[in-house]
Amino acid sequence: MKPRKKSQELHARASRVIPGGVDSPVRAFKSVGGEPPYIVRGKGSRIWDADGNDYIDYVGSWGPLILGHAFPSVVEAVEKANRDGASFGACTPAEAELAEAVIEAFPSMDKVRFVSSGTEATMSAIRLARAFTRRNYIIKFEGCYHGHADSLLVKAGSGVATLGIPGSAGVLDEQAKFTLALPFNNQQAVEEVFHRFKNEIACVIVEPVVGNMGCVAPRKGYLEFLRSITEQQGAVLILDEVMTGFRLSFGGAQELFNIKPDLTTLGKIIGGGLPVGAYGGRAELMDMIAPLGPVYQAGTLSGNPLAMAAGLATLRELKQHPEIYRQLEQHSAALVDGVLDAAKKKGVALTANRVGSMFTWFFQPGTVHDWDTAAKSDTQAFGKFHGAMLEHGIYLPPSQYEAMFMSAAHSESDIQQTIAAATGAL
Ligand SMILES: *Cc1c(COP(=O)(O)O)cnc(C)c1O
Repeated sequence: MKPRKKSQELHARASRVIPGGVDSPVRAFKSVGGEPPYIVRGKGSRIWDADGNDYIDYVGSWGPLILGHAFPSVVEAVEKANRDGASFGACTPAEAELAEAVIEAFPSMDKVRFVSSGTEATMSAIRLARAFTRRNYIIKFEGCYHGHADSLLVKAGSGVATLGIPGSAGVLDEQAKFTLALPFNNQQAVEEVFHRFKNEIACVIVEPVVGNMGCVAPRKGYLEFLRSITEQQGAVLILDEVMTGFRLSFGGAQELFNIKPDLTTLGKIIGGGLPVGAYGGRAELMDMIAPLGPVYQAGTLSGNPLAMAAGLATLRELKQHPEIYRQLEQHSAALVDGVLDAAKKKGVALTANRVGSMFTWFFQPGTVHDWDTAAKSDTQAFGKFHGAMLEHGIYLPPSQYEAMFMSAAHSESDIQQTIAAATGAL
């Protein structure tokens, strides 16, 4: 590993003109120590920094790059779209094409609206749920992250937790009070709140498999419970599949767990690495959105041709190669178990959560099923591990409370190399 001198210079330069030198706080290395490498190139499972070091990447742009970096058909699709004009702010054919592809994969949706980020998708879905139910309160879960909209920045998982701040300054108490944050995987807490706020709860929004406090799976029956109580209580169930959509299976977590939500939010993979979000559901709800109905939501670059092209190329590849999901499962299992074995041999307390190609190694002996149990992790030990892995050429998310992602481009030898690196790093 060459010293990251150029990265350091670039970071000093960025830090003079960008707060913390980063455009999203999770990129900062504040909680793990050290300074971030500056990335100049990616191909397949690997990324290269400005000093010429290469790393096996398990961040994958925080989820979108299920095919790996610079996947040929995605690159070609974007190049072609770009030659024809990057944006028109007018109707283009690719929008309906991607919408059809999304709806086909997610039968709970009759219609879908494209936006430019996951944040916009969840924010808009909540606005729609409130308009539909004419109710004010929303339920979210501690440790779940649904983007940075004001009403959703309450107990919002990795980004805020890593920095050790409770929520965000600048969010009005008047607004935060309508957000009821409950422990994940706890049915009783949800029942109590529905009882206390009878006919006042517009929606429940949940990551069906949480990625944003590290990977945490729903307990058996938990999602079914959320489905049935929202139905009974006349509240909208929003599955936030920004991370899980097209990752856990082609039809997302809702296909895997056989749950039919009222609204679904998507992002990440459906943009193939370009900025996209989407929200969709039954026509009855979606037809309330302007111009058909009274719920206003708009975007200058929504449905952008480059982003639609990248998304379409990605979904096409996934659809044509369903075996990708089997390979992701096998590779992820081999990696997670390989590192657990190494930890056991070295007497390091490590517990792992994994669903498909999302996984986290928590530095603690206990099991992790909600925010409070995740928070028992030894973040200093994680920080040391993270730094040592980086020196071994393995790029992990710089926070204990993030999921890692396997891509279709990761090979068996990548995995063996990663296990060997972890054996040294633990
Ligand atoms: C990443 C993420 C978001 C936010 O998406 P952005 O595109 O970063 O705004 C929302 N929900 C979940 C579950 C996410 O993982």
